[in-house]
Amino acid sequence: MSDGTLSPTDLVRQAAAAGVDVLGLTDHDSSAGWDAAAAAASQHGVSLVRGIEISCASNGISVHLLSYLHDPEAPGLLAEMDATRESRSSRAQRMTERLARDYPLTWEDVLEQVHEGATIGRPHLADALVARGVFGNRDEAFATVLASGSRYHVSHYAPDPVEAIRLVRAAGGVPVFAHPLAVKRGRVVGDDVIEAMVAAGLAGLEVDHRDHDDDARRRLREIAASQGLLVTGSSDYHGTGKQNRLGEHSTSPEQLERIVEAGKLELVRA
Ligand code: AMP
Repeated sequence: MSDGTLSPTDLVRQAAAAGVDVLGLTDHDSSAGWDAAAAAASQHGVSLVRGIEISCASNGISVHLLSYLHDPEAPGLLAEMDATRESRSSRAQRMTERLARDYPLTWEDVLEQVHEGATIGRPHLADALVARGVFGNRDEAFATVLASGSRYHVSHYAPDPVEAIRLVRAAGGVPVFAHPLAVKRGRVVGDDVIEAMVAAGLAGLEVDHRDHDDDARRRLREIAASQGLLVTGSSDYHGTGKQNRLGEHSTSPEQLERIVEAGKLELVRA
């Protein structure tokens, strides 16, 4: 619903066809896809973990925090998500203005790529640039003009991860740090920030992810073991927008059970 290339319904259908038995849906800063995904999950015999991916920042370093099985109406988290989505919209406009100085791109071009209910982000700018023929695909745009170090890049409002973890816990959710050591995406936080996140109630670390090499996974498993955190694996599938394949990484049944026990919402069971 936020920035993948499939609708939640089609995502569930593809997951079922790929043999996925439990699927997590974690749109950026939005639970707008949950109902459609839940209906499709029941229809296709897939169990669904409803979640979101919260865009956070710690001293300017991007941190993605997954929240699983929280109450979507909890006011604190809801207000924070609204603030982030609003800021994402003005940030996308500012990036478009910067890009428009050098490339044939208008705000209307971008809006054409944003479907109803989406969480606007760089993927939509990429799609607009691809539609204009400036780049061949999203990856090319992300590798150049949309990269976080690019002169066209603008940041958006994002809560501190420690505060976000408190809000997720208050909403009955299970907070898991997404791809904590994905160095190819940009700077990553140090152990001090992870420790502060654990103290605030972090439940787990996403370990098995294509942006982690073997060393990163080993280190994260060590941290998880020493801090009593659960470990997850996820494909971070975005449809055709990224190379990631559906179900390329997964979470063990034992770890899933820990998430379900700790979460306020139930799994939508197949
Ligand atoms: P933003 O949240 O607006 O800063 O955009 C970053 C998001 O774009 C990340 O969460 C990525 O998962 C997503 N994304 C989608 N397609 C790509 C791609 N081809 N390369 C890098 N990131 C991508």
